[in-house]
Amino acid sequence: MNLIKTDTFEFEGKKYEIRIHGSAWDFTVRAYLNGKPANGYSYSISLPTAIDLKNAHNLDAVQILVGYAKRDIKQNMWDKYIKAHVASLKKKPKETLGCRKCGSRDISVSKVDERDMFECGNCRDICYGERQTTSGPLSIIDDITDGVTKNGSHEIETSILLNFVFRTDERCGLSFQDQLLNWAQQNKLKYDAFDHEGTQYLRFWR
Ligand SMILES: [Zn+2]
Repeated sequence: MNLIKTDTFEFEGKKYEIRIHGSAWDFTVRAYLNGKPANGYSYSISLPTAIDLKNAHNLDAVQILVGYAKRDIKQNMWDKYIKAHVASLKKKPKETLGCRKCGSRDISVSKVDERDMFECGNCRDICYGERQTTSGPLSIIDDITDGVTKNGSHEIETSILLNFVFRTDERCGLSFQDQLLNWAQQNKLKYDAFDHEGTQYLRFWR
């Protein structure tokens, strides 16, 4: 499916996107926040092929789905649903975790870089919880972990980590290499260094 159109709107200080994806006469509408799906809802429609495709995404039939996606955000539908559902199951929050890759409930949770990290005990898949707040160094770190999740590996200039993330300061006493190693181990990442046209890079993967 291709991205056909993006509507943005603000709610409670957060900037949401309603993205319309389409493939010929099939359309899907979903709300996004910070580039990720904002909730579990997505709406889809298959229009009759008699309709002219050029303007199909502007038809009421599609726009009504955009309205649904916005309503879900404004009425906080997803959180209400999850809370009510979990309460009805009488489960502790930990018992509701599951691996999206393999379906296992053997998940261990740890706090890494000021956010939750979830590791599947079965397939070893790693994912992270939402951040409450972020900062320059954390957003650089998130680019690495997100890049590894999305693409299998991520490359970054060594000087960026050296100057903005793992600054050697006298109080902490750890060298750049030690901090880098600790951080990679916490996030279960492997890495190596390489040189490209005189610039040092690090490559991360799992
Ligand atoms: Zn798994």
